This record gives sequence, structure tokens and C-alpha cells, in this order.
Amino acid sequence: MELYRMTAAELSRMLAEKKVSSKEITQSVLARIADNDRKIKAYLTVDAEGALRQAETVDKKRMKGEALPPLAGIPVAIKDNICTRGLRTTCASRMLENFVPPYDATVIQKLKAAGVVFPGKLNMDEFAMGSSTENSYFQVTCNPFDTDRVPGGSSGGSAAAVAACETIAALGSDTGGSIRQPASFCGIVGLKPTYGAVSRYGLVAFASSLDQIGPMARSVADTAMLCDVIFGKDSHDTTSADRGYPSFAEALRPEVKGLKIGIPKEYFSDGISEAVKEAVMRAAKEYQKMGAELVEISLPSTDYALAAYYIIASAEASSNLARFDGVKYGHRSENYGSLEELYENSRSEGFGPEVKRRIMLGTYVLSSGYYDAYYKKAKFTQLMIQERFKQAFAACDLILTPTTPDTAFKIGENIGDQIKMYMNDILTVTVNIAGLPAISIPCAFDSKGLPIGAQLIGAKFSEQILLNAAAALEKQLGGFGRCAALA
Ligand code: GLN
Repeated sequence: MELYRMTAAELSRMLAEKKVSSKEITQSVLARIADNDRKIKAYLTVDAEGALRQAETVDKKRMKGEALPPLAGIPVAIKDNICTRGLRTTCASRMLENFVPPYDATVIQKLKAAGVVFPGKLNMDEFAMGSSTENSYFQVTCNPFDTDRVPGGSSGGSAAAVAACETIAALGSDTGGSIRQPASFCGIVGLKPTYGAVSRYGLVAFASSLDQIGPMARSVADTAMLCDVIFGKDSHDTTSADRGYPSFAEALRPEVKGLKIGIPKEYFSDGISEAVKEAVMRAAKEYQKMGAELVEISLPSTDYALAAYYIIASAEASSNLARFDGVKYGHRSENYGSLEELYENSRSEGFGPEVKRRIMLGTYVLSSGYYDAYYKKAKFTQLMIQERFKQAFAACDLILTPTTPDTAFKIGENIGDQIKMYMNDILTVTVNIAGLPAISIPCAFDSKGLPIGAQLIGAKFSEQILLNAAAALEKQLGGFGRCAALA
């Protein structure tokens, strides 16, 4: 099998046994990108030179007999809203088209210390706002399972690159579902960690109280390996939790015996396609066969979650994006006569329509006459949702739901209809609002051959239970590691 098709766990073993070098793996991935990415358009920047240099450094250390971490020498591509020193970080926006960060995000520092190789930066919806990657200023990424369809969003470049084997694994970010929804559309694994588990330092902020960086990979073991590197307290992020984490990869056991898995009826309602409901219920039956107990639960505030999410996320975005003013960094208009005009023209030219929509919505819900009616109510709804989840976790250990209402839609299909686009997040946003961890795992294909994802939601810091349950389904289904676009 070609090296680029393998998982991080497999390559890690081969590297340790010196059966392969990191340079060979990296060359294989770079050749795959050169060959296939014309079709998929997942990458905004490919750093072939940097990646090969990093690979050679790791190989030299290994030759000298240095003990290396498990991910050393393995290519991991990065969503383009995570700052990489010396490597352009655009957020898929004209605003940051030429932005080269002078520092690394904490997750990048950690991956570098672990010897990871960085093939490049991945496409996304502009400033992570969207569900299809169509909001990128630069290009539309295609779903590797059907190139007429979207890969999901906003981490669509990450999901497509992993599914098309144009990287071994990737990092994404998830504010309302942006890791899980594209993972589901592209048939890969995506984990949104507990809020506070992974440092946000160097992640370009969208909605700071909801944003989390997380791993996207072709297997649960690879996902666990990435968690081992990126989790942890960071003094640069005051919201990062002060706790230690045992090795998720070492503790990974494909087991659910004795676990109670909650099935919330609100997540299987009329708006969800029959194929998706059936596939997730089949996954539930598999869990039952493996010794888990299924319990019906109710999460009644789910109806309000989407509205609350779009109010809170837009409010925070409007404040976070105020820094892009044409003065400090980012796009500056050439056409201005006054400071006022400099601000106005730089922002008008630099931001795309969806970002502008969010900024307008956000400033509106925070304005003095409407604050109580919208923002305050949304924050109250957030408390209610958190409370409902707490009650649910008194009755079960994990919650199983579909990740998305349907499989990948056609490019252009929802672009003119914001509400339809926002509905894509209906099953994922509650998790961010409650600060919980959740994982999307491939569980079936629909009649068109498109992947269907199941979402497992856990209580705060229950990532090990989530990973174990995900691994159990993976084993039961005979593995997910099927590369798309096998052509
Ligand atoms: N699709 C959602 C939005 O547009 C979620 C985005 C995300 O998680 N970054 O806001």
C-alpha cells in the first residue's frame, strides 16, 4: 500500500522499526497532494520544502538513536486559522491574504516538539464561518467522495485532505460543529475536545467562549495520538483547564461493556433524513450487541440551541473581528482620504459576505436597545442547555446522535439560503454551547455512496470514554480507514 494511505499508528510503528523514513512518508504525501489536490482543492499553502526539512531532521535524530515521540516524522496538515510562524495563515480571507504570523500557536509548538511534519495549510470557510467551505475567499474545496459536493465546513479543507489521503491527519477547529460536520461529510473521525482542554492561543478567534482546536484523522487511534500531543494547560490561554491528561492512545480500548448510551429523541426528529436516522440506530444496535445499554433520554432545549448559538457566536465574532481595521495588520485599502474611510474601505474590501453578515448580526444583538431581548436571552438559554445535559448525564454515560441532518449536499445548493445552511449545525451546536466533548465517527454510507457520521457526546473531560466507544464501533464495523477518491 502507498505510504500516504496509511494511518499515523501504522506509520509510527514502521518508523520505529526503521522500515521507512519520514522523508519517504513526506515525499509520498507531497506527491499525492501534487497529483490529487488539483481535483480536491483542500490546500491553500503547500510547504514542500519546510516539510522535507522537518522530515530530514527527524530522520537524523532517529538514526542517532534518539528516543522520539510516537508522532515524530508523521505529516499533519493544519487548518488555516491556526498560526504557524513564518508560514502564511489566511483564515481563507482576503483580510489576511498576506499575513505571515510572527509566532506559533501553542498546538503548533507542541506538534513541533513532538517532531510532526507540516505539509501545509488547509482551506476553510472565511474566519471559520460556514458549513460548506464555500465561504473561502480563495477556492471551493470538493468532497473526495463526490467532487460535485461540499466537504462540509468550516474545516472542510482538513476533512477533505484527510479523506483524500493528502495528509495523514489534520487539525481543525470547532465553534459550532466545524470539526464534526465535515468529518461526517467526508467519512473520517473528528473530535471536538472539552472546552478548555486544548489551548486556543494562536487560533484566530471567532467566538472565544466556544472555539476549540481538535484532531481529524482516518482512525480513532490516530485521533487519540493527536490528543496526547495537543491537550494540556497553557499559561497563554486563561480558559485552558489546569489538569493533567494520561495518554489517551495508551489507554485506548475498544470497549463499551456496561456503558449506558443515551438516545435523545429530539435528535431523531422529522428534519433528519431517514437514511441518517437508520444508520445511527444501526450503530446503536451494534453498541447494544457489544454490551452497552441503550436508554431513551430527552434534551428538550435543543430547539432553541441553534438560535442561541448564532446570537452568541455572532456577538463574540463582532467583537473579535473589530481588530481587523486596516491599521495594525491585514488588508489595508488603497482608497481612503480619512481614518474613517480607511476603516470602512479596508473592512468592506477585506471581509466576505458571510463575515459581514455575522458582524452585523453580532453588533445588533449587543446594541443597547436589543441586548436584553437577544444576547441576554441567548445566554440564559445556554444555562438551560447546560443544565439539561447535566441531567442527561445522570442517566447515561454517553449520548449517541447523528452528526448532521443529512449527507453532503451539492456545491451551490445552499449558498443562497442562510437558514438552510445554518440548519446543518442543529445537531452539533449544543455541544459547544455546553462546553462538552464530542466525536463524529463514520458509521455507514447512504444510497449515493456518501458517508454518514454518528456523534458521541460525553460529559466534560470524558474524552477517553468517547475514544474507547468510538474505537469499539470502528472495530465492529471493520475499520473506517477507507480512502476516498481512490481513483
Ligand atoms: N457552521 C457553524 C457556523 O457557521 C459552525 C462554525 C464553526 O464551528 N467554526 O458558525
